[in-house]
Amino acid sequence: MHGRRSIAGGRLHGPHRAAEDEMITLKSYLRGEWVAGTGRATTLVNPTTEEPIAEASTQGLDLGAALEFARTKGGPALRAATFAQRGAWLDAISKALHARRDALLDESIASCGTTRSDAKFDVDGAIGTLAYYAGLGKKLGETTTILEPAEQLTKSARFFGAHVWTPREGVAVHVNAFNFPAWGLGEKLAVALLAGVPVISKPATSTALLAMRVAEAIVDANVLPPGAFQFVAGSTGDLLDKLGPQDVLAFTGSADTGAKLRGGKGPVERSVRVNVEADSLNSAVLGPDIEPGSDVYATFLRDVVREMTQKTGQKCTATRRIFVPAAVIDRVQEDLAEQLGAIKIGDPARDEVRMGPLATKQQHEDFRSGVAKLVASGARVVHTREVSEPKGYFVAPTLLRADAPASATAVHAHEVFGPCATLMPYAEIAECVKLVAMGEGGLVASVYGDDRALLRELVLGIAPWHGRVVIASSKVADQSIAPGMVLPSCVHGGPGRAGGGEELGGERGLRFYMQRTSIQADRALIDKMFEQAKPE
Ligand code: NAP
Repeated sequence: MHGRRSIAGGRLHGPHRAAEDEMITLKSYLRGEWVAGTGRATTLVNPTTEEPIAEASTQGLDLGAALEFARTKGGPALRAATFAQRGAWLDAISKALHARRDALLDESIASCGTTRSDAKFDVDGAIGTLAYYAGLGKKLGETTTILEPAEQLTKSARFFGAHVWTPREGVAVHVNAFNFPAWGLGEKLAVALLAGVPVISKPATSTALLAMRVAEAIVDANVLPPGAFQFVAGSTGDLLDKLGPQDVLAFTGSADTGAKLRGGKGPVERSVRVNVEADSLNSAVLGPDIEPGSDVYATFLRDVVREMTQKTGQKCTATRRIFVPAAVIDRVQEDLAEQLGAIKIGDPARDEVRMGPLATKQQHEDFRSGVAKLVASGARVVHTREVSEPKGYFVAPTLLRADAPASATAVHAHEVFGPCATLMPYAEIAECVKLVAMGEGGLVASVYGDDRALLRELVLGIAPWHGRVVIASSKVADQSIAPGMVLPSCVHGGPGRAGGGEELGGERGLRFYMQRTSIQADRALIDKMFEQAKPE
């Protein structure tokens, strides 16, 4: 039996929650207070043990008042601060998270089913992104606007047009996916706050316990002005219907939910700006010039295995489709199967375990039905195994192969959100480009090759379909960045199925939260007006 503990600050002592631990009631942080909803709650479950661990509800909470609080308190305070000041706040938040890093990692292992290494990927990602945007704030300095270079508009050398970016006067509502409770909250928060816009952050409920621990660290740091940060644990209720013309909605999750939110009243009737980060059938392409046994080939195998199994394949950037020259497909299959077979699956709290369970029962069911869907579409399973754990939402790394890739349509359209990818042959680059494009828009593609002409044809062919392309060639085979790693300095997002959004990318990310206005006036006046905000 579980007792009930209504706190926002319960502490864990190690990766395993004792069976007698009390059920935690998640709280939201609204208008400067931690508050719990009433009525029917959603239960959060430890995916390793299937034990219920917490409950969340937002019923009865006044989310409209939270919006108003952000608009009237948080927004004005943030807009009055310069980029440098906001950057200093982000720096303090990053340090506050770092100070609780061990507890956050333990919480991730205990409540999200992640290994320590997977937990670090999430938590350190949040800390690092906040630190990066803190640095950007310092660089942008003691100013509150971003001015683009001016252009002369008439024959006179006086009348100019300049574009100036100012913070929107609304609220940034962040709706995040279950797979990155820490990074998802931190990366969106960093960009919005630096832009000068207050945040209401809503994590996916299933992993909201870790997100709440992150929120606690932010609140306890006590650096942000009131109303700059609020946190919703549970459903959004009527919050999204109340968004207005200066508000923005940044969503990460499934394409289906993304479509629903984009079609909501706010975006349709009041032009609420929306950014969607959704599904993606990310590709890895082995170039025809790469010999099995070479360094680049080893990098390719290492990347594919990592991208399939890190966070149990629950990464939006995980590799789902693997394209290799037809001549080497049997060898690649054999090598991947060998490496995947060596991945230790089990309780993520154990040091030797490399892959924990999927995050929820629903994900577990979706994984199985998703693999069946790919098989029905013409792929066959060429590597998997039984998992012996008695409890928990465990699955094995599953490699499929589709020898007629163009007709295996589900492989290019259905994202199986777990440790699963499909190996496919191609004969020439033009065919490979077409197959990659069948994914209809992705977050990232990784390409392994050295031949510049082939790489150019391939990369130019697939670039319009992606937000990011990683090229691993001999010169960087030992240092290229893991394709699944999202860096704050590079854009994250992708066209089409990936949602059509764009996050991060250094200063580029701020634009979503700001309004660009063309100012047409006497050049000296423009310079003077915006000079005022610059440092002495
Ligand atoms: P999801 O079911 O679409 O949920 C995402 C978020 O939307 C959750 O916070 C969820 O809240 C909320 N939500 C669902 N229905 C809603 C509604 N009607 N109104 C308001 N909010 C609503 O997705 P997920 O299962 O958490 O995440 C997995 C998906 O996310 C995968 O497809 C993955 O590719 C994608 N993803 C993309 C990226 C990226 O950056 N592109 C990153 C990570 C994940 P509740 O949990 O309370 O229902």
